[in-house]
Amino acid sequence: MRIVSYTNLCVADCKYCAFYRRPGHSEGYTLTHEQIFEKIDRLLEKGGSLVAMEGGFNPALKLDHYEKLFQAVRGRYEDKIEIYGPTAVEVLFIARNSKVPVPETLRRLKAAGLRWIPGGGAEILTPEWRKKLSPKKYSVGQYLETMETAQQMGFGTTATMVIGFGEPYEARVEHLKTIRSLQDKTGGFASFLLWTYQSQNTALGGAVTSNDDYLRTVAISRLYLDNIFHLRASLLTQGEPGALSLKYGADDFDIALEDQVTQQAGTHIEENVERVLSWVRETGLTPIQRKPWEVPNGTAD
Ligand code: SF4
Repeated sequence: MRIVSYTNLCVADCKYCAFYRRPGHSEGYTLTHEQIFEKIDRLLEKGGSLVAMEGGFNPALKLDHYEKLFQAVRGRYEDKIEIYGPTAVEVLFIARNSKVPVPETLRRLKAAGLRWIPGGGAEILTPEWRKKLSPKKYSVGQYLETMETAQQMGFGTTATMVIGFGEPYEARVEHLKTIRSLQDKTGGFASFLLWTYQSQNTALGGAVTSNDDYLRTVAISRLYLDNIFHLRASLLTQGEPGALSLKYGADDFDIALEDQVTQQAGTHIEENVERVLSWVRETGLTPIQRKPWEVPNGTAD
């Protein structure tokens, strides 16, 4: 997979983010369709099939920009790839920035070829931790409402959690409980992905939490979220030691060619696919390649 960060211009000012630039900054960018095609072509050459399209809250990009983008990508690649994105929080921003209600925004994105709304931007879903980490992002209630609306409209969705900001265990449990409750109601999440905050070049700073903490949280998430079919490990942030999470309850992982958001904050991407697979084989497991999940919910190839 490849995370194509289509713009780094953003007005959300999340304290844990090393990726974004404020509008007007000399290092700000918005990728053209040709630049995005180039990145997807490289992914296809490597045998990849999943493109996450995620970016900043860029006030210059209205809903029609996204419609044209997804029409162009879907038109060029049809079903050779699946697109994950934009995330629920980006959908909220696009809707507000375009003065279009969220359900209508989702309907238009769907008509443009989008099928998945991933769960990125959730971080820690408690009012207190949203205020501490990203006060300008959306509330827990708005996030859940957007996810539920997307699920009702037939989008596939995923859930996520990011740990290691210094949050207490209680906050993680509250996050898991919130996700579990929505899943009990809708059954709409195909997977749960857990990763760790990367701290380099961020305003928040601090250290990266240990892989032991990551493994324990994977195990607890697997036990508690027994209503979500797949648990995805983040080898992207955890590297080789993270492969052990496949023995702690995770059943899936992505091999990413690019993720500007975590790379800017210190993640090293292992580009050698065979090496990543060898980490998994060393745990005694045999990796197999799946296609991106099919909509609806939780049906794995
Ligand atoms: S995490 Fe996303 S929304 Fe927050 S500042 Fe970075 S790019 Fe913007």
